[in-house]
Amino acid sequence: MGRSLVLLALASTPAPAADLLVGAATADVTPPPGYRQAGSYQEVFGERAADPILAKALYLRQGDAAGVIVVCDVCGLERNMVRSIREGIAKETGVPVPAVSVSATHNHGGPMHYDPVFVALFAERARAEGREDRHRLGDYPAKFVAGCVKAAADAKKAARPATLEVATGKVPGLTFNRRYVMKDGTVRMNPGKLNPDIVRPAGPVDEDLPLVVFADAKTGKPFAALCSFAMHTTTYGGRAFSADHPGHLQAELCKTFGPEFVSVYAEGCAGDANQVNAATKDPDPTPKQAAAKLAAGFRAAKRTATTGSLAVRAGEVMAPLRADRPDGVARSKDLLIGEGSKTAGFLEQVEAYQVLLTHHMRRETGDKRPLPVQVFRLSKDFAVVTLPHEVFTAIGLEIRRRSPFQHTLMVTIANEVDCYVPTAKAFEDRGSYEVTNSPYRPGVGELLAEEAVRLLKEVAP
Ligand SMILES: [Zn+2]
Repeated sequence: MGRSLVLLALASTPAPAADLLVGAATADVTPPPGYRQAGSYQEVFGERAADPILAKALYLRQGDAAGVIVVCDVCGLERNMVRSIREGIAKETGVPVPAVSVSATHNHGGPMHYDPVFVALFAERARAEGREDRHRLGDYPAKFVAGCVKAAADAKKAARPATLEVATGKVPGLTFNRRYVMKDGTVRMNPGKLNPDIVRPAGPVDEDLPLVVFADAKTGKPFAALCSFAMHTTTYGGRAFSADHPGHLQAELCKTFGPEFVSVYAEGCAGDANQVNAATKDPDPTPKQAAAKLAAGFRAAKRTATTGSLAVRAGEVMAPLRADRPDGVARSKDLLIGEGSKTAGFLEQVEAYQVLLTHHMRRETGDKRPLPVQVFRLSKDFAVVTLPHEVFTAIGLEIRRRSPFQHTLMVTIANEVDCYVPTAKAFEDRGSYEVTNSPYRPGVGELLAEEAVRLLKEVAP
């Protein structure tokens, strides 16, 4: 009896909360010159690097709670590569795999070192033509994995008591829904500027810029930030490797916070959003211009100090794949790299890609793909959600609307391969690129939103 009382007495005076420790670090994972470049259905090679391709890591710990968030300047990742990175990070940092997130900014100016369809097809074609397959050039895939792990390990070494300031900024007029309902009733991606057949955009945009700034608790000096924006990382189009606007945003924020500052930028729910404003003839923003607008939104956001309170949750959604096509594999290969590729239309090639991707994913994980969803609560008013794939903007807006947190930041293309997750409603559209690309049956986006909201509620104060 007495013993219970003592325990009760102890329980009623909670120990002071442990400090939130945060560390940030980057690793240079720039591919060698001549490595394959991402972002198109053709095989292209990067000549050199215009600016570095980085893996950026945040390490978070408070008492028993811990998490790692890594974002890479690459177009996408692949399941086995993700597993190697997450396991490597868990080993180096002691943070369990489910609390480690690895994601891509969807940068089309980065290397193609992951794509489970094209890596195999291009290797096959190179062999048939007696050419070198550049996939392993400079041992790049292994170096990429090691770089991501090193960034996380260095972030842990740099961890120190940190204070947080949070906000949701606004970046008006930079992101646009790229899918349009046309006069003939179809839905087209990027139908062209001032196209007279456009009736209206087929979906919403999200101009919010949720952000958190970490400062050294002792000196008060900010040392890192995490922010995300729902727009494709496609403002860059050159043949030299580049990190695109997230790289320029890093340079912009260093002007404000100092040269050592680490800006971790993630792509938000941008499956149907990019920088192209079809309603004007004006040129699209350059990477620098896009970064300047993001930086302006970042600086203008009124940040409020909040007390760090870390909790990490990992969940899973079982996502049903489309049916396989028994004759599909050979025909699809032909449409992408064989004779058929010479006359194939764009959507025909997109569908061929999808058939091969679906086939590959089914062989890996069966008819239902287990998809990871994570939530990192950073304070009572700020949470980070990670989602796999390129998720449509409407799904992200739905998660934010239902989130119990004042600020909810979405990180997409996390912990999984790169493909589209449209809304269930979009599957009814005719002619849609993103729906044609998606290996899933309708409803997966809504399942992801449910799981994200469930986890957010679980950690809400
Ligand atoms: Zn995309």
